[in-house]
Amino acid sequence: MSGRSTRYDAVVCGAGAGGLASAHALGALGLRVLVVDKQPRMRPVAKGEVLQPGALRVLRRWGTERLLEQRGGVRLGRLVVRDPAGAPLMALDYGRLPEGDRWLLSHDHLAILDALAEGIGPTVEVRRGALVEETLRDGSGRVGGVAITEGGRRYEVRAPLTVAADGISSRLRRAAGIDARRVDYPHRLVSFDLTGAPRPDDFSAYLSPRGLRLVYALPGDRVRLYVQTAPDELRGGRDRSALAAWAEGVVAEVPALEPLSGPLLAGLDSRQMLPVSRFLSPRLAVPGMAFVGEAAYAVHPMAAQGMNTAITCAASLADHLGRFGVADGAPSPATVDAALRAYQAERRPILAQAATTSDNAARMVTDLTWRGRVVGRRAVRFTGRNPRLLHTVTYNMSGLGPRPMTFLDRLHQLGVLPDPRAHRVPQP
Ligand SMILES: Cc1cc2nc3c(=O)[nH]c(=O)nc-3n(C[C@H](O)[C@H](O)[C@H](O)COP(=O)(O)OP(=O)(O)OC[C@H]3O[C@@H](n4cnc5c(N)ncnc54)[C@H](O)[C@@H]3O)c2cc1C
Repeated sequence: MSGRSTRYDAVVCGAGAGGLASAHALGALGLRVLVVDKQPRMRPVAKGEVLQPGALRVLRRWGTERLLEQRGGVRLGRLVVRDPAGAPLMALDYGRLPEGDRWLLSHDHLAILDALAEGIGPTVEVRRGALVEETLRDGSGRVGGVAITEGGRRYEVRAPLTVAADGISSRLRRAAGIDARRVDYPHRLVSFDLTGAPRPDDFSAYLSPRGLRLVYALPGDRVRLYVQTAPDELRGGRDRSALAAWAEGVVAEVPALEPLSGPLLAGLDSRQMLPVSRFLSPRLAVPGMAFVGEAAYAVHPMAAQGMNTAITCAASLADHLGRFGVADGAPSPATVDAALRAYQAERRPILAQAATTSDNAARMVTDLTWRGRVVGRRAVRFTGRNPRLLHTVTYNMSGLGPRPMTFLDRLHQLGVLPDPRAHRVPQP
């Protein structure tokens, strides 16, 4: 480790979407940034594949969207909740958003990470296989860097700004004493990577008697299928014929998925089981340290918000630092802390809104209790028939800026009150 600099303007802990986006944004300010990740290399994982317009605006500025499009990224124009026969019940039409923001973009998670990493500036250094052990604090308790173990050797890195982007189990969040209670959804999502299936046009959520089936196109003629399961439904490595029978049952319950039947049977080995949880940290910053991505906030994947807010939070953090003048030289702790306070004040309400949007969307389509089904189906049906509410929900999903739903909107959404303004859709 000798000869390595141990002083930086910022140290970013974690090189997932949140960490790489932070490194990108901080590097663009000209800051000397060290990014560390405990994994020697990123592994493919079936998460974080769909980018919303709000994150795409940021990625467009950075040139990352262009890279993703050149590498086969797929534009999706609508997010549609469908019945098992495929009939649309609620269609969020991104074509009604402002010009230039009218699509979602899907790509493999690793491809998104690669594209983010590729655009990182020359003042950023990335070290993999380096585990962040703990934060370093000055006499006042302010975070002033981290202790790292790499190749069996421990060393310290000092920086006025530490970015905790170390994921949902964030060691740095716990070290800061932040109690963020995590709530697990009572189901899992099992992903399948299908080849040779007809390419779907939309991001489609099918309602089935046993929960959500989510389908969208990926680059290279591939299709992503997520199947909601009970936690132990596929546990214990079912044998091949039991697994095939299970897959046939999935298709039989949703006739619209029949064209995926052959590719699903051929793609059973691609399955990954992912737990899903939600939480929102009460704080996004402590003196000297910002929390970005799942270190601060996790949501159900149904609304495709997690990685998107990680990217927009990273951009916002750098914007605040830029506004406080850090780009003019090595940032002082006082300047960093002022920017961190502004970051928290701006982003916390936005994350709270996105958390509500995601949880409502998830419960509408995944809640299998009797009450949950009744309320969920009503909400899907009444929202689907109300152009104004559809626009509000689309806008909230897009990440272009929150449009909070009022209590009255909720009553319209559940069909408790008729909505006289249902056809008054705001202009894009
Ligand atoms: C099934 C599923 C589907 C999803 N689909 C979408 C989607 O379509 N769109 C969307 O926007 N979001 C989606 N999400 C959410 C999205 O994947 C996450 O929000 C996003 O990947 C979080 O990125 P992150 O960088 O915060 O965390 P992570 O991706 O978890 O990265 C954290 C990194 O920190 C490293 N690390 C951890 N601890 C340490 C340590 N002590 N020292 C050094 N390194 C450390 C880890 O190795 C890891 O690389 C989905 C999630 C799931 C589960």
